Amino acid sequence: METNPEVVAALVKMVLQELTGGEAPKTECDGLFPTVNDAVEAGLVAQKKLIGMSLERRKDIIASIRNAVLEVNEELSALAVEETHLGRFEDKVRENILCATKTPGVEDIEARALTGDHGLMLLEYAPVGLIGALTPITNPTGTLINNSIGMISAGNAVVFNAHPSARNTSSRMLQVIHRAIVNAGGPPGLVSSVRNPTLETAKEVIENPKINMLVATGGRPIVNIVLRSGKKAIGAGAGNPPVLVDETAQIRKAAKCIASGASINNGIFCTCEKVAIVVQEVADSLIKFMQETGRVYLLTPEEAERVTKLVVTPDRHINGKYIGRDVQVILRDAGIEIGDEYRLAIFEASADHPLVWLEQMMPVLPVVRVKDVNEGIEFAVKVEQGNRHTAIMHSTHIEHMTAFARAIQTTIFVKNGPSYAGIGLGGEGHTAFTIAGPTGEGLTSARTFTRQRRCTLCESFRII
Ligand code: NAD
Repeated sequence: METNPEVVAALVKMVLQELTGGEAPKTECDGLFPTVNDAVEAGLVAQKKLIGMSLERRKDIIASIRNAVLEVNEELSALAVEETHLGRFEDKVRENILCATKTPGVEDIEARALTGDHGLMLLEYAPVGLIGALTPITNPTGTLINNSIGMISAGNAVVFNAHPSARNTSSRMLQVIHRAIVNAGGPPGLVSSVRNPTLETAKEVIENPKINMLVATGGRPIVNIVLRSGKKAIGAGAGNPPVLVDETAQIRKAAKCIASGASINNGIFCTCEKVAIVVQEVADSLIKFMQETGRVYLLTPEEAERVTKLVVTPDRHINGKYIGRDVQVILRDAGIEIGDEYRLAIFEASADHPLVWLEQMMPVLPVVRVKDVNEGIEFAVKVEQGNRHTAIMHSTHIEHMTAFARAIQTTIFVKNGPSYAGIGLGGEGHTAFTIAGPTGEGLTSARTFTRQRRCTLCESFRII
């Protein structure tokens, strides 16, 4: 394995500074390295240092990251939209605030103790060491913030490999997080990445023997790749969240929630409502109330056909050009002009419409009518396609909600709110931008990135 001499020199300088009792290391290192190997070597050194530091220092590092990313929030949200052409500036800002403030920190790895007739058992959540994290184009800022806070809180170092098309934003965010760590007295190299992430460097991260755990946030193919790596892997994959509305729902509220949930960030959150399924009896009201929000445009059947032709390729794939774009841009290319106030286009779709089955990731939402709630549940389960990701229901009927939740088995199930309530935005609970459905960890947090260690003390320390 080749190691870059500049990096070695920087690392040696850091170690010497520390050995000679110098102040917090002054280093040129900004978290970006020429090669994956260099990033890995820096991460290994940094992780050893981190676990030698106090938990109080680790908390300071996490606090520093939270503050620093909020300071650059607007700048990097704008850069993310400019570079990837995905999503909306104001929603990226919300995403980053959410990740900075609602990602659990060191408190998430609090130890557990159990005493009994035979003494004491202590369970601690230990770091796994060095983590390799692959991040999606859809959330180049949020995932980095969320993963960094969770992984470092658990005592790990992390080598990121961002989506190549979100390279600049991800690199900038990584530098900000890196600087925040060093400013709080943390070790350089605790978060790292190659300067120029590609699919090839992603492969190097996956195959590097010194990386102990892989975390892939993206589509099903990359999740499958990391699962085949032979390493402990966490896979957060694609979804196609259905929202089901039954005849007992508060229809006006449901309409508002779906309009907001499906259009946030132009539909690029993996949790966004991607198809609305509504019981026939209340379908007209739902559509009417959605229009009355003033933000939802109802396509005529003929317009819907034109939009479908534009955004779905002849071989039934989503046309990448329209992913995450504003609804005005998509509709304009289909020859439809709408005002700036709109956030979402909806249309009545048949059950076999491609946008019902594909993860469209854009503010165009099919609405499918069903005879009754049972037909709706059965159909929604099919539409979710076993992703075990997210489902939403609007209902006031407890049995209906229970039946749907049992049938669909998703990681996130939101009742009577917009989809994003399920990731802690206007809903209870912590946030995660790595939602591990395929591998079952759910909304990841610091504890996810640990290994459990038990310590048993025989016949003592039960003091009652
Ligand atoms: P993607 O799968 O194309 O890319 C994800 C990451 O994997 C990127 O860093 C990419 O460079 C890497 N990658 C992809 N193919 C690779 C290969 N063959 N070899 C090596 N590396 C590879 O996903 P995307 O388009 O960036 O993001 C959108 C997808 O991510 C959607 O399907 C969305 O639902 C999903 N997503 C899921 C979650 C979740 O928490 N479950 C969160 C955000 C996004």
